[in-house]
Amino acid sequence: MLTALLLAAAVPPLGADALAQLRDGRIIVESEDGGTAGSTHAWALARCRPEAVWAVITDHAHFPDFVPHLERMEILQHSESAERALQTVDAVVATVRYALDYRFDKERLHIDYQLAPDLPHDIAAAHGAWQLWPTADGTLIEYSSAIDTGRSVPGFIRSYLARSAAGDLLEAVRTRAQRQPVAPPSCDDCARWNETQPPLRIFGNTWYVGVHGLSAVLITSELGHVLIDGDLPESAPKIAASIQALGFRLQDVKLILNSHAHFDHAGGISELQRLTGARVAASKPSAEVLRRGESGPDDPQYGRLPPFPKVSAVSELEDGETLRVGPVAVTARFTPGHTPGGTSWTWSSCEEARCVSFIYADSLTPLSAPGFKFKRALPEFEKSFAALAALPCDVLLTPHPDASAFWRRMEKHEPIDGQACAQYLEAARAALRKRLLEE
Ligand SMILES: [Zn+2]
Ligand SMILES: [Zn+2]
Repeated sequence: MLTALLLAAAVPPLGADALAQLRDGRIIVESEDGGTAGSTHAWALARCRPEAVWAVITDHAHFPDFVPHLERMEILQHSESAERALQTVDAVVATVRYALDYRFDKERLHIDYQLAPDLPHDIAAAHGAWQLWPTADGTLIEYSSAIDTGRSVPGFIRSYLARSAAGDLLEAVRTRAQRQPVAPPSCDDCARWNETQPPLRIFGNTWYVGVHGLSAVLITSELGHVLIDGDLPESAPKIAASIQALGFRLQDVKLILNSHAHFDHAGGISELQRLTGARVAASKPSAEVLRRGESGPDDPQYGRLPPFPKVSAVSELEDGETLRVGPVAVTARFTPGHTPGGTSWTWSSCEEARCVSFIYADSLTPLSAPGFKFKRALPEFEKSFAALAALPCDVLLTPHPDASAFWRRMEKHEPIDGQACAQYLEAARAALRKRLLEE
């Protein structure tokens, strides 16, 4: 008997058609309406492990942060296996309050609830359940609820509670679960990126001091230097050694800047700041991530990114601001999209009478954790594309040198390429178009 139950619990009771729809990202809601009472049965597939979904659906204290129309959730009693919570639903013209008793069964990934029998409520009856089903594609979320609102509740609120609420709730739970922080992913590329690269002059006073697979750029003067990007945490000593190998002193690096606050471009900044004593400046969203050493939920890849060493003193700068160290003048161009704080940098370098315009263009790739929709980030991307397209661009550098054929250009000793910027932007636009079609 027990075996039969366990077997039954391992197979979600859904047909192949329904499963295919769920795999497409759709949410299935079936509802029945009868007078003041209604019941709903809803399904969604979350592309993450059941623990992540469980963490979200049992975190009632945070439900108002992400569940539409839920104004307040007051935890009245709580234990490992049970909870009583008072919910306040904002239904535009009226507020509906009721208290639910939950029972948690973590072994079975099951929660059921009913109206607390001994308390007053604005509705007549309610009960329901959550069931999670681990599958190869992720976690199937099954949610059922039955509500009798009684007479005191207007009809449209009743139908919202009975029908739309379940779909909204599942969408919200799924999105949040997919973005739950998980154990840091192993970085398959890091060892290859971090290969030692002898430093070299790109043009004039602009030098490549990064590792082979991740750029770090030094712009030098008699009165001090500017460093852009710190690469991986393990890249910092290599960058420091490259700066010294060129004959520059670490303590003359006065300012450290960043393209975007991910572990592979900002990971070494903390250590490089310690070694040089340089000031670190970044856009406001990047500065917040640098101080925390990890991205927030506004990062498309939130939950999939390894943390990195925190940077203690970061000053914030404005879009279009020019930062100076002696005669070196570097201008910030905010180019969000890949991250909210993404920044590209422009400056000019001269060799005798010839001066060229540099752009260190930030990553523009639409990469994300499951569940993120780049439709939301589209206006930011469009602004970033337009900002970069409008700038003079003789030499294009990018945080990942391969993204702009940097090594191919340097092999030919020709860093200047009038087409490189346009090609980089066109590739970014194409990648975003492709991604939007997939969403
Ligand atoms: Zn990145
Ligand atoms: Zn990167």
